[in-house]
Amino acid sequence: MHHPLSTLTSLVEQIARTQDPTAMMSTIVQRLSELLNVEVCSIYLCTPERDSLILAATQGLSPTAVGHVQLAVNEGLVGNIAGSLSAVNLADAPSDDRFVYIPETHEMPYHRFLGVPLLHLRKLVGVLVIQGHQREPFSEEDEAFLITVASQLGSTLYQLHRDGEWMSDVQDASPFRRYRGVKGAPGVGCGRLWLVHPQLSLSDIKPSMTSNPAQQKSDFIDALDSVKEELESGSGRLGKHLPSDVSALFHVYKLMLQSPELSDGVKSLISEGASAEWALKQTIDTMASMFEKSDDPYMKARSEDIYNIGQRILNQLLERDQQVLEAPDEPLILGGELISIADLAAFPQERIQGLVCTSGSTLSHTAIVANALGIPAVMGVEGVELEQNRGAKVIVDGNRAECIINPPQALLGEYKRMIDQENRVMRDLERLRNMPAETLDNVQIQLLTNTGLLADATPGLERGAQGVGLYRSEIPFMVHDSFPTEQEQYRIYRNVLKAYSPLPVSMRTLDIGGDKQLPYFEINESNPYLGWRGIRFTLDNTQLLVTQVRAMLRAHAECGNLKVLVPMISRVDEIIAVREILEKASEALKRDGIEVPRPQVGMMIEVPSAMLLLPKLAPHIDFVSVGSNDLTQYLLAVDRNNPRVSNLFDNMHPAMLVALEQILDTCRRLGLPASLCGEMASDPVAVLMLIAIGYDTLSLSAYNIPKIKLLIRSVRRADLLPLLDKARDCTDESQIRALFEPVLVNLGWSADGRQPPQDSSAA
Ligand code: PEP
Ligand code: MG
Repeated sequence: MHHPLSTLTSLVEQIARTQDPTAMMSTIVQRLSELLNVEVCSIYLCTPERDSLILAATQGLSPTAVGHVQLAVNEGLVGNIAGSLSAVNLADAPSDDRFVYIPETHEMPYHRFLGVPLLHLRKLVGVLVIQGHQREPFSEEDEAFLITVASQLGSTLYQLHRDGEWMSDVQDASPFRRYRGVKGAPGVGCGRLWLVHPQLSLSDIKPSMTSNPAQQKSDFIDALDSVKEELESGSGRLGKHLPSDVSALFHVYKLMLQSPELSDGVKSLISEGASAEWALKQTIDTMASMFEKSDDPYMKARSEDIYNIGQRILNQLLERDQQVLEAPDEPLILGGELISIADLAAFPQERIQGLVCTSGSTLSHTAIVANALGIPAVMGVEGVELEQNRGAKVIVDGNRAECIINPPQALLGEYKRMIDQENRVMRDLERLRNMPAETLDNVQIQLLTNTGLLADATPGLERGAQGVGLYRSEIPFMVHDSFPTEQEQYRIYRNVLKAYSPLPVSMRTLDIGGDKQLPYFEINESNPYLGWRGIRFTLDNTQLLVTQVRAMLRAHAECGNLKVLVPMISRVDEIIAVREILEKASEALKRDGIEVPRPQVGMMIEVPSAMLLLPKLAPHIDFVSVGSNDLTQYLLAVDRNNPRVSNLFDNMHPAMLVALEQILDTCRRLGLPASLCGEMASDPVAVLMLIAIGYDTLSLSAYNIPKIKLLIRSVRRADLLPLLDKARDCTDESQIRALFEPVLVNLGWSADGRQPPQDSSAA
């Protein structure tokens, strides 16, 4: 007999000594699950009104469900026990008609279920439940024991039930938390946190043997087929939304899945007695190490793909990927370390309201895809325990780079209102599409868009962009599995130029390094932001630059609206070298019979030396574009992707004001057109300052164009000039912001500019 009466007596005594109701119930479920050797033990208590039951304590179900899961009497198995006042013992609870699945609890993997009513003087107090993985009912012995325990606990829990204090205690048990990350994609979304990565990773698999190799082989084949199928359907579904080069990633995965090394390797280890999981781990390790040994950085990087594939097969073997099927049919926030394109493809897009990633940065693949699909995303969120918060309500605020777990009802309501309002304002702003971005005192501002994925072309045009101010060409390189060929690049660039023709498109040459890494060309440096970045990298890898420039020029020969933009210029000889390469490429194309009109050539001002050398650089360029992200980063020595110092990163720092004014003055003197790209052009407070300084061309993400246009159409530049005057005397960014924020507030915006006025019809 495994539950001696003495143990029960000591448990009841221990409980009687515990004062705190939450601790008391935790002790009960914890000790009972140990005593009965079950995966789950939970207590549901009646509300004081007795019409429903609330999960008051659990060992095994998600802790975030405590205090939040509520079932009416007669609802679900628990409600039925309460209604009938009789025990229920089932081999497979999910297949019972009375079962209702409550996503917060994560009880899907459990089958056997035993629940007994908790009574005191024939009055219902609650329900005590145990659950387990096996598909067989609990023994009569277990049932008798649980009924005995319940009768002992009934009177103790009755006291709790009567004073009702436990309710506020358990409901406070999952406090709301706010976590900061870095911006992934703008917008706000809320839903339930759904983890896309399994808890068990391939590296956790320990040696284990099987006595049934035939079954293990068939399980492995099924798992392999499921992953193949999933990729087929995923690439099909996302293919509509993403450019063809993204689907190239799927192709690499498919090739790996078909490789005989993988399937034969696993099957032969299973024949030798290894379990399917252990055989898989060993085979994947062997395959990955072969790639890792390679000197070729491209081949080396493939080991990551092999692990990715191995993990997906493991998930299927462990049936964890059932999670996609089991995901509740309601808005979801997907969480994980990094969410791959394949993971995203597994969920219906309309259900994904946001992404929370514990690693990655603004330019990670996940962020790029989220931007293209319009899904709010926060990257690099530190300190958040996603696993412990499965099923919790989460708000993703991509505008503030924050996520909020278990928001109180009031905050949730506020955010929902914000989302509705944002949708309404966005719909409302569509009417501005063909109206000029012109201030009330007739200052014209040209609004261009920043883009990178071809899928981005339509939003820019739909939102009234007057051209592309920054085409980040590294993005097609980042979603490719090797350096794209000249022909592939030519096709991509031609599509972008064609989509915008005759509007101008400033295409930036490859800007990798720093936070922008190519999966197939690893650059390991101790200080990557001061290393092989942008033009330094491409000039040293001349062949890459020549190929890219040829592809751009060929597209330009057809469309005629290309402007070449060169990133990270810090020296005069760099721009001279680029011009030579461009000229040589044009001559070579001419020899091949392709006559290319000379495109304008401009440079980014991101490095302080470029700003200071502007007069010396001017003879070699036709225009400049201020990269406010990097210029702020290098001027203030603050890494824009590091959450520890991101509070010091502000485009409105007084040093930036000096720099921005100096750049514009010099450009005017030299007759060089100047524009500004970078996030500053999406920040309404900063835009007021930029208009006052005199910037008349801004490039920003398509998503933000309508809001910024609305703002421009609501102000008079003349009213902003006295504020700029005062800003020149400020010593920190908060003082400068405090000068411009009241302008927004007077126009009905929120002070930080995140919320435009509800009624924008005046503009
Ligand atoms: C910038 O630095 O401001 C910029 C637009 O370039 P990126 O963000 O791509 O580095
Ligand atoms: Mg930059």
